[in-house]
Amino acid sequence: MHVHYLDHHATTPVREDVASAMIPFLTKHFGNPGSPHAYGWAAEEVVEIAREKVARVLNAAPREIVFTSGATEANDLAIRGVLAAYAAKGRHVISAPTEHKAVRDLLRHLENRGDCEVTWLAVDGAGRVSADAVQAALRPDTVLVTLMHANNEIGTVHPLAEIGAVCKAAGVLLHTDAAQSVGKIPVDVEALQVDLLSLSAHKVYGPKGVGALFVRRRHPRVQLEPQLIGGGQERGRRAGTLPVHQLVGLGVAVALADADRADEASRLATLRDRLEAGLRAQVPHLTVNGDRVNRLPHNLNVSVAGVPGDALLTGLKGFALSSGSACAAGDRAPSHVLRAIGLDDDLAHASLRFGLGRGTTTDIVDEAVAAVAATVARLRAETGWTDAASNGATR
Ligand SMILES: *Cc1c(COP(=O)(O)O)cnc(C)c1O
Repeated sequence: MHVHYLDHHATTPVREDVASAMIPFLTKHFGNPGSPHAYGWAAEEVVEIAREKVARVLNAAPREIVFTSGATEANDLAIRGVLAAYAAKGRHVISAPTEHKAVRDLLRHLENRGDCEVTWLAVDGAGRVSADAVQAALRPDTVLVTLMHANNEIGTVHPLAEIGAVCKAAGVLLHTDAAQSVGKIPVDVEALQVDLLSLSAHKVYGPKGVGALFVRRRHPRVQLEPQLIGGGQERGRRAGTLPVHQLVGLGVAVALADADRADEASRLATLRDRLEAGLRAQVPHLTVNGDRVNRLPHNLNVSVAGVPGDALLTGLKGFALSSGSACAAGDRAPSHVLRAIGLDDDLAHASLRFGLGRGTTTDIVDEAVAAVAATVARLRAETGWTDAASNGATR
């Protein structure tokens, strides 16, 4: 059975043009960019081209880009690196409970070890924090604010430019995990006034295992203590032989995603609206989670009263969908993001996350609506669920 892929927040297929750009750097041009001969120079040249491509998309300078193994490592380097470099100023960090686990669990780990103290800002019912809340949480010993650009479960986009202005005025560094926003909405480090920014290739039709951290060098020059020490690569900021083919893939994928961004975003938003309208029309007592305005174009997260989320997913075998995030899918705990925006355990469990992408068509969306409607009706009939039982489930 063909399974329609609607889980583009978890990962995306590598584009053919990205894959073919990578191949020669596995087999033919295999040099180590650090080597002092023709093979090394050829490798170094393409690595610097990839760096320019990433920098251009972010409106950054190439020297401000540090290559990493993905967004997880970029987040880790940003947070640990800043905490270590600014220890004399303090160890207070401001974040929010809706962060991806790569930030949230890292901060909790560092908190438990006594390496930092975290203020977890409350989010509103749509999953947003306000610049005023950030302002109010600032302290003399605050060294870092870390807030994701766009949420990987509900698609909510934080008001980063306003938060950036608050941080800048206070002289506090702002890091953002932009793994979900790059290639989907404009990401400009000057407009957003961010000092550090993480991204990942495999969320934008590039290969897994590679990403980058933007580290501002001017106004202010961000200090970062390296976490991987060794060969001195990346100007001493991240040691390890550069994975040339992966970096070629990253550069091409990010550049292509940015070139297609406006057209693809409007196409996906139209499909997302069709999906949302179809589900609202055909599935009674359906809640849409997230922000109505400040949202990613390709995300739709819904909760369906009266059905268990895992039974829903089991009933939707023709679709690759997720309930909550991919990383949380293995465990039975309800999504921490849906809990943070105020959903009870039942509704948080009974959620579906749609992530539309390049391969998604009108037909697939229509099939998904019909399949969800039929599955929900069947499960509700099986469990004898009635509207009366859904006290306050609609909003
Ligand atoms: C996917 C994702 C990550 C992890 O990125 P990797 O490159 O897989 O390490 C981190 N943050 C967010 C918001 C993501 O969506």
